Amino acid sequence: MLKIGFIGWRGMVGSVLMERMRQERDFHGFEPLFFTTSSVGASGPDVGQGSAPLKDAHDIGSLSKLDVIVTCQGGDYTQRVFLDLRKQGWKGYWIDAASTLRMEKESIIILDPVNRYVIDAGLKSGIRNYVGGNCTVSLMLMALAGLFANNLVEWLSSMTYQAASGAGANNMRELVAQMAALGKASGKLLENPSSTALEIDRLITGELRGGKLPTEYFGVPLAASLIPWIDRAVEMGQTREEWKGYAETNKILDTRDPIPVDGICVRVSSMRCHSQAFTIKLKKDVPLDEVTDMIRSANEWVKVVPNDKESTIHELTPAAISGTLTVPIGRIRKMLLGPQYLTAFSCGDQLLWGAAEPLRRMLRILIEHLG
Ligand code: NAP
Repeated sequence: MLKIGFIGWRGMVGSVLMERMRQERDFHGFEPLFFTTSSVGASGPDVGQGSAPLKDAHDIGSLSKLDVIVTCQGGDYTQRVFLDLRKQGWKGYWIDAASTLRMEKESIIILDPVNRYVIDAGLKSGIRNYVGGNCTVSLMLMALAGLFANNLVEWLSSMTYQAASGAGANNMRELVAQMAALGKASGKLLENPSSTALEIDRLITGELRGGKLPTEYFGVPLAASLIPWIDRAVEMGQTREEWKGYAETNKILDTRDPIPVDGICVRVSSMRCHSQAFTIKLKKDVPLDEVTDMIRSANEWVKVVPNDKESTIHELTPAAISGTLTVPIGRIRKMLLGPQYLTAFSCGDQLLWGAAEPLRRMLRILIEHLG
């Protein structure tokens, strides 16, 4: 029976992965083993076979006995453990949510509804590292798969609105703690019907600038604000999050002629779900209804939202989509820039299609392949 190790299962991505695997009854036909970087010996999760003590995620000896490792622990962990394991001759399969190995030649970026052909070719040729893509890139490809499949995209700009959960469990807690502090500070003014919006605004701005809000993880307040910078700087004034748009899109699609993808990535105070506004230059002028049909029919999760106010405010928001696998795309229209220019807005749960779901599905594909 295959031995499959799970690392990072209690983090944001990991806990969503566990939840989805339970929902889909994936925990059968293999022996699951759970690891930790912080609480060796504590009880692990019960996934139907009772709970066992957590193993040490840094113990190369235990890890090397596994056939498959699924890690949602993060890039530092991958960096620390992966090479040591391989150096010791470990030949198992490594499925990872972190970006560390994504651009390696010996890795495939997994998003099977979009690039199953790349995954199958990788398995056939003996590739053993399968890495989930960047969340906004995966969600963009899920939403626009129809346009890419029809080779219609000349270039694409994506301006993102990324949720706090994209930065991890502690950042989510910090956002809510900031909201709670703002709520508490403004409570009296809100209760008083004669207080003005300007008074409330002054108080909130004072709190945002007062240095007392919890900012250990984001560095600055996110609640009632936004942060137009995600990850570290790379070349040409881009952030690494922005750089991934071009690099990962082209790797996932295995394009021969790379498609330019660029934009600005912004952290906003949504809890969960990344949104993005696209500007797309099409290779030719295709009527809007045909473009819409291509988008709609690309996969079973994408959902075209009519370009009207009621549909948009009820169906195209993080509040509506959080916790679901649906990837809505709306506001689709040709732009004043010219008939080849298309705009659209999409929103998707980045912990599902942007992180855990491609990993869960890859594990199933792999188990089938090995079986
Ligand atoms: P995370 O929530 O910070 O969890 C990572 C690890 O931190 C956990 O496995 C846990 O390890 C430890 N941890 C420390 N404090 C914790 C707390 N209060 N609650 C839960 N766990 C805590 O990170 P993540 O967002 O899941 O990201 C994991 C990897 O996936 C990263 O490489 C990230 O870049 C990538 N990724 C994330 C997203 C996303 O939307 N968040 C999307 C795509 C890819 P121990 O149990 O060993 O202590």
